[in-house]
Amino acid sequence: SVAAFTVVAAAFLLQYGDWNRRLGAIVRLLERVEEGEFAAPYDIEADLHPDAVTMVGAAYNRVREQISSMVLTDVLTGCLNRRGFEQELAREIARATRAGSEFSLLGLDLDYFKTVNDTCGHLAGDAVLREVGALLKHSRRAGDVVARTGGEEFSMILPDTSAVGAHQVASRLCEAVRAHEFLATQKPLRLSVSIGVVSSGTDLHDEVVEEVKRRADDALYHAKRSGRNCVCAWTPALASRPLGRSTESLRVIGS
Ligand code: GH3
Ligand code: MG
Ligand code: MG
Repeated sequence: SVAAFTVVAAAFLLQYGDWNRRLGAIVRLLERVEEGEFAAPYDIEADLHPDAVTMVGAAYNRVREQISSMVLTDVLTGCLNRRGFEQELAREIARATRAGSEFSLLGLDLDYFKTVNDTCGHLAGDAVLREVGALLKHSRRAGDVVARTGGEEFSMILPDTSAVGAHQVASRLCEAVRAHEFLATQKPLRLSVSIGVVSSGTDLHDEVVEEVKRRADDALYHAKRSGRNCVCAWTPALASRPLGRSTESLRVIGS
C-alpha cells in the first residue's frame, strides 16, 4: 500500500508541477498583454498530452489575435496605429542590432490636408486618408511596415534598407501620391505628401528608438519648410536638439 501510495503521490506531484509550469507561462503572457505586448502566443505544440490547460492556452491565443488587431490597428485605414508602430519600430531596431543590418524610417505628412476637409468635408477627408493608407500598403515591399501615426501622418519602417534605397522609395511614394487621382471626393482631387527619411547604421541599441523618430520628424519638418511635395533626408545640420551619446553613431543619409 505504501509503495502504491508513493507511486500515486509522485505521479500527482509531477502532474501538479507540469500544470503549475504551464499555468505560470499563461499568467506571464497575460502580464505582457497588460503591458500592451501581444507578440508571443501560448505554445500549444509543446503540450504533448493536451489537457484543460492547453485549452486555456488555445483560448488565450484566439483572444490575443482579436485584441492585438483591435489595439494595434488604425480603424480608419487598417494600417498599424501609433501603438503598433512603436512596437514594430522597437522590434525592428532590436532585430537590426542583432543582425547588424540597416533599416530606414519614413515620416510622411499630407500637404495642406486641412483644405481637403474645409472644401470637401470631414467624411470625404476620412475617405481620402483611407485611400492614402491603401496606396502606401499597395506600394510597400514584403516586410515593410505602414502605420498611421497621426491625423494625416503616416510612417513606414523599411527593414534592410540603406539610406540610398530609402530615398528612392520615398521619392517613388511622393510621385505615386502626386499622380494618384483621389476619387473619394465629389471632384477628383490631387494631393501631395512631404517625406522625412532617416536611416540607421549597423551599431544601434534599443535606446535609439526615440532619437530615430525625432530625426524622421526633423527631416519631415525640413521637407515642409522646403516647399512640400518633396523628400528630405536627415543630416546632422537638421538636428533641432543635441544628440545623446548613445545615438552619435547613427549613420544617416547625407552624412
Ligand atoms: P501641412 O502641409 O503643413 O501639413 O498642412 P496641413 O493642412 O496638412 O496640416 P495641419 O496640421 O494644419 O492640418 C492637418 C489637418 O488634418 C487638420 C485636420 O482637420 C486634418 N485631420 C487630422 N486627422 C483627421 C482625420 O482623422 N480625418 C480627417 N478627415 N481629417 C483629419
Ligand atoms: Mg500633420
Ligand atoms: Mg499635413
